[in-house]
Amino acid sequence: MNMRSISFRLVAWHAGLLTGIFLLLCAVLYLDLRYFLENDLRLSQSRRTRQIANTLIAHVKQTGEPYVASQTKAWYDPEINDRFIRITRADGTLVYVSGAPKDGSFDPAEIPIFPPTTKAESSRKIKLSGGNTLLIAARNFKSPGNPDYLVEFGALLDPVETMLNHLFLQLAWGLPLAVVIITVGGYLLVRRALMPVEQITRTAEGITQHNLSERLPVSRTGDELERLSLSLNRMITRLDEAFQNSKRFVADASHDLRTPLTILRGELESFAQEAQLAPELRDRAGSMLEEVVHLGKIVDQLFTLSRLDAGEAQTEWTTFDLSELARTTAEQMSLLAEDKDISIVCDAQQPVPVNGNRVRLKQVVVNLLDNAVKYTPAKGAIQLRVLTANDHAILEVEDNGTGVPPDALPHIFERFYRVDPARSAESESAGLGLAIVKSICTAHGAEVSAESTAGRGSCFRVKLPRSKD
Ligand code: ADP
Repeated sequence: MNMRSISFRLVAWHAGLLTGIFLLLCAVLYLDLRYFLENDLRLSQSRRTRQIANTLIAHVKQTGEPYVASQTKAWYDPEINDRFIRITRADGTLVYVSGAPKDGSFDPAEIPIFPPTTKAESSRKIKLSGGNTLLIAARNFKSPGNPDYLVEFGALLDPVETMLNHLFLQLAWGLPLAVVIITVGGYLLVRRALMPVEQITRTAEGITQHNLSERLPVSRTGDELERLSLSLNRMITRLDEAFQNSKRFVADASHDLRTPLTILRGELESFAQEAQLAPELRDRAGSMLEEVVHLGKIVDQLFTLSRLDAGEAQTEWTTFDLSELARTTAEQMSLLAEDKDISIVCDAQQPVPVNGNRVRLKQVVVNLLDNAVKYTPAKGAIQLRVLTANDHAILEVEDNGTGVPPDALPHIFERFYRVDPARSAESESAGLGLAIVKSICTAHGAEVSAESTAGRGSCFRVKLPRSKD
């Protein structure tokens, strides 16, 4: 997983932020509810102390303390309702205290006497030995002409605690679940949102000089991605135009240069053959002729490349036997090899039918053999093989010549690339032979590769789809 990718960062931010907000909301909800429930209980207890004070204690002079005690018990039935009620005089002596509740949740004797207070209303929480907590509201009853009393009314906080604990558990379970849903949901959303980027990348990867007419997909959403695709498409259009212009220039230049060069060559040839020409002039004409021939070869190769760029190799396809093509070409090239005392051994007996432009594929074999002869010293050996592998035909040209240094190997199929232009074999060439091979192979859906060890030889391999016919 790439932690610096947009999708990862977006999901991490989104999940982190929402988790933080959720945590905060849960904490606020929990604390708020705790305060609300406790306060509600405190208020209802306090209300009851007021009831006792106002309706019973206010008339204690007439009714007497035993009546207050019995009425309090009758009204609130504290033992049944799990409540704590205590009425004490100003000196701390008891008027009434409720008994232990039926469920035994607390013992009223355990509850300490309320410390003297001047406040009319107050409350306190008492932690009992059984672990329960009692919330007690207290009211100071003061009335002119009457003795002072303290009325306490308490109830267990445990139902509130149980409810809050339950809520806490729900949140503790729910929060991780929510984080998982948020993360997965966020990831799916981000993936969906970035899908067009994925498509644009894939299409852009597939656009090369051979298919510059293709355009990136544009989703008509009016958003940043639409603008990006449109801008990139405009850029590809500009590149396409520039590329077409340069191709047209090379095609026009090489085409227009061919005729004057042919005329120049003819003129120089006849000039060099003039009988009365001084030997010195003949030599100079001969070297000029050599240069013109060399120039003509470069212009021819450029012209070939420009026609290949225009898609010429994709026309005039036939099905033919690659082995037969290899054999005849090897035979024709053997004369060239014999000049250097180099042997060409052709191992191509089995018929291997392929589809393609025969003339151009022959050029592949010629260029590879030509290079093999050029870069193999006298008495060397060249092997030409045609093999099959699954659905492919393989043509190999192997020599035991000079080889290519490892740092140069990745570049030898580039246009005008020569490993060492100072070498005699390379000074006569322009570095276009393998570029032509590559261009023809690409047009045939074939791959061309080279293995080489400097000083020991090279092996060039063309892997071509076999004909199904
Ligand atoms: P050129 O037509 O000038 O020979 P190529 O494009 O055919 O150019 O080859 C490019 C370079 O690759 C050459 O300059 C040469 O150094 C190297 N090369 C090609 N074929 C061979 C080979 N069979 N053995 C050694 N070097 C080779």
